[in-house]
Order: sequence, then C-alpha cells, then structure tokens
Amino acid sequence: MLEELAGLLGGAVGCSRVATNNGWRPHSDQVGLTGTKVACDLYLACGISGATQHWVGCMDSRTILAVNTDPEAPMVSRADYAVIGDVHEVLPAVVAELRARREQRAGQEEERVLTRG
Ligand SMILES: Cc1cc2nc3c(=O)[nH]c(=O)nc-3n(C[C@H](O)[C@H](O)[C@H](O)COP(=O)(O)OP(=O)(O)OC[C@H]3O[C@@H](n4cnc5c(N)ncnc54)[C@H](O)[C@@H]3O)c2cc1C
Repeated sequence: MLEELAGLLGGAVGCSRVATNNGWRPHSDQVGLTGTKVACDLYLACGISGATQHWVGCMDSRTILAVNTDPEAPMVSRADYAVIGDVHEVLPAVVAELRARREQRAGQEEERVLTRG
C-alpha cells in the first residue's frame, strides 16, 4: 500500500528504525539520525511516533503530514497536518481517491484527444 501511494505521488518509501530492526526494509530506507536525512516537499509519516532520532531525519521537509492513532504522538504535534486514524483505513482511502483522480484525468485527456480528431 505504501509503495503504491508513493508511486501515485511520485515519491519513495522510507521507514523508521523499527522497520529496519525487524528486517522489513533495508537500512538504506531508514530516515533519521543513524539513517538518511531527507527534505521532501511532502513527508507522510504513517504510524511514526516522532522520536527525536527520527524527527531529525525528516524535519527539513516542506510539509509534514502525520497519520497516527495517537493524538498525543510527538509527530502529530510537530507535523503541519495530522490525521488521527488507523493507517490501515486512512491509506486505502487516500490511494482510492488518488487512483480515481488519475483515472478521471486520463479519461479527460483521452476525450480531448478524440475531440481534436
Ligand atoms: C542512538 C539511536 C539512534 C536512532 N536512530 C534512529 C533513526 O535513524 N531513525 C529512526 O526512525 N529511529 C531511530 N532510533 C529509534 C527511535 O528512538 C525510535 O525508537 C523509533 O524512531 C520509533 O519508530 P516508530 O515511530 O516507527 O515506532 P514506535 O515508537 O513504536 O511508534 C509507532 C507509532 O505508530 C502509531 N500507530 C500504531 N499503530 C498504528 C496504526 N494502525 N495506525 C496509525 N498509527 C499507528 C503509534 O501511535 C505510535 O505513535 C534511534 C535510537 C537510538 C537510541
């Protein structure tokens, strides 16, 4: 789901140390003090608590959007925007909306081409 969302937004998936420690993602994907520092246009922090060691790796991003079930999570208070909710519900809804908009744009483009002849 994260890979698909990143693809739709023209972005890339990063992770926290929890993910690398568990072997879910390679260390090269880790954002933070002992990982990579990023400065994205949009940093989408999905289920990231916002520990200082992670925060220092993403804080230079232009806009930060946190998705977290815990309204008290440090990432929620540090982010520019926050959605308080379960990533398993929020992300599928965002992906569905982006997919629908992409298909709509493709349809409109096709119509324009056909109209031009
Ligand atoms: C020397 C040192 C260096 C470190 N370097 C790094 C580093 O480079 N990068 C790094 O990331 N960490 C680093 N850490 C670890 C760091 O301190 C944190 O432990 C780590 O960032 C926590 O990762 P997390 O936010 O993914 O996990 P957690 O702290 O476990 O937080 C999980 C968050 O997800 C939320 N959540 C859970 N389930 C859901 C759900 N279904 N939907 C929405 N939200 C949900 C929870 O409310 C919580 O806020 C370092 C630590 C040390 C001591």
